[in-house]
Amino acid sequence: MSDAISASAATPAPTDFIRDLVARHVAEQRYAKIVTRFPPEPNGYLHIGHAKSICLNFGIARENAGQCNLRMDDTNPAKEEVEYVESIIADVQWLIAGWADHCLGFKPKGATPTAVTTNGRPDHYLAPVAPGANSEPFSASSYFDQLYAYAVELIKRGKAYVCDLSPADTDKYRGAPDRPGKDSPFRNRSVAENLDLFTRMKAGEFPEGARSLRSKIDMASPNMWLRDQLLYRIRHTAHHHTGDQWCLYPLYDYAHCLSDYLEGITHSICTLEFTDHRPLYDWVLESLGLPRPLPHQYEFAKLNLGYTIVSKRRLLQLVNEKVVAGWDDPRMPTLSGLRRRGVPASALRRFVTGVGVTKFDSLTDVAVFEHAIREELNTGAQRRLAVLRPVRLVLTNLAPGETIECRATNDPQSEAPSTRVLALTREVFIESEDFAEVPPPKFFRLKPGGEVRLKYACIIKCDEVVKDAAGRLVELRGTADLTTRSGQPNSDRKVKGTIHWVSATQCVEAEVRLYDRLFIVPEPAAEEDFLKVVNPRSLEVLTAKLESSLVTACPGELYQFERLGYFTPDAKDSAAGPPPAGAPRLVFNRTITLKDAWAK
Ligand code: ATP
Ligand code: MG
Repeated sequence: MSDAISASAATPAPTDFIRDLVARHVAEQRYAKIVTRFPPEPNGYLHIGHAKSICLNFGIARENAGQCNLRMDDTNPAKEEVEYVESIIADVQWLIAGWADHCLGFKPKGATPTAVTTNGRPDHYLAPVAPGANSEPFSASSYFDQLYAYAVELIKRGKAYVCDLSPADTDKYRGAPDRPGKDSPFRNRSVAENLDLFTRMKAGEFPEGARSLRSKIDMASPNMWLRDQLLYRIRHTAHHHTGDQWCLYPLYDYAHCLSDYLEGITHSICTLEFTDHRPLYDWVLESLGLPRPLPHQYEFAKLNLGYTIVSKRRLLQLVNEKVVAGWDDPRMPTLSGLRRRGVPASALRRFVTGVGVTKFDSLTDVAVFEHAIREELNTGAQRRLAVLRPVRLVLTNLAPGETIECRATNDPQSEAPSTRVLALTREVFIESEDFAEVPPPKFFRLKPGGEVRLKYACIIKCDEVVKDAAGRLVELRGTADLTTRSGQPNSDRKVKGTIHWVSATQCVEAEVRLYDRLFIVPEPAAEEDFLKVVNPRSLEVLTAKLESSLVTACPGELYQFERLGYFTPDAKDSAAGPPPAGAPRLVFNRTITLKDAWAK
């Protein structure tokens, strides 16, 4: 699966309102360099919605010779795990490696960051750093010391205070959008008392929930986020990155804007639900009187896809409740699930870029995604023959052990197609749905007494239907007209149907997994209980017969099984390469069906 893409004149860079704005800033020379970031919280695996954000942020950086940082937004130790950090790195590298990797925001592991100082303190990560094999992403948790120092500064400036209200009372005092809140009784503590309490919060003197650090803004603001939003809370929980070092953790609204500032981000691009947070984002930065240019937040609409859930919390529920086999189940809209299913990274990029960037929430038809996948696969995938639901057909005019070599095309789309040899033998398998004992009208496939062409081989005739005592089909018997093979006198004799087949004696058996949409309604997220609209038939497992060349198929390779769709060996369960001894376990996933099945 080669999916490197390059910017060329044939593929103009996308345009949208954010790119237009960045272009204006570039024209005005407002910044020395455009710096963006992709800031996932490592509390789950990345999904297709994140792909949109990754391509937007890395895309803008690349188009403007800038830099995009991958940053773990890891301020909540209770929900975050190393497994998620690792999966995020792998997924981002898979999605955009070879495309925007020159500006991947990695810092060399263990290296001393460039010593730039702000307010006399080291200010890390301002210089672009080259990605290396031994590297780690940026993370909010590596700024905890600096963030703490900024909080002390806010207290000194009278812009933050330690509050002893319980979480429930804090909520009550906040009021409601149509009703002003009430000042906390702790709001007017002296700077000295606040500093003392905040130091002791850090030292672990107080239990969880006993105290918090709050911004001092306006309890009557129409914007709820400005009603003295919490900046720090006490959590006696170890962190996957900082271990036991902290029991005081910053909240998103405080950590995010300052992490952006520390990294020299110019454009902090996020989704619409953060629009109301923007005044708080600006307030924190402006309250500190910081010397360098401040980052600005811009919002765009999330990607929502039909028949799909794009929420880590809900995807986690699918995993925990074992609706799917894991985060990388090929039915999941996670990047790891899509990769395992065989969706090329280039198809994902094509899709998320093609749907555009807007300010309006909408639901993208899943057919648009499927179209992008087929477009990518059609040119890349080699053709093979496979039979999913086999019926045996005995060609009685061929001798047992006789082999007739037939040439099959691997890549009909290519300018110089290559071929391989298929063995036509006395016994073959055909697809059970290509035979009908009582054919419906306009059925052009095989029927008793009827003829059909076996693709790449010859025309065959069905002479006899063999059944068991219970009336079940056992096998078909027929004859091959070898004069209709390519290069033979009757090669252009026409019959209405052409079907696929494999030799019964020279084939390999494989488990084949067919997938359908995971949900039965277009908007599962709008349901009261999305678990109630899970598609009970989203996975079908078959034992199929494949042409023998597929025994060496490896994960990462993609094939078109003619008339059946695109398939890839399963990266977890399929044995790669030829068997050391005995039969290998071959497992194939169907990535997607073909748009039009031919000869039907
Ligand atoms: P989820 O709701 O799935 O948990 P999130 O926004 O909480 O998503 P984050 O890890 O915070 O997940 O997301 C990282 C970045 O990806 C954020 O900037 C967020 O705005 C963006 N993002 C998340 N979901 C989507 C989506 N569906 N479409 C586009 N961008 C998204
Ligand atoms: Mg989030």
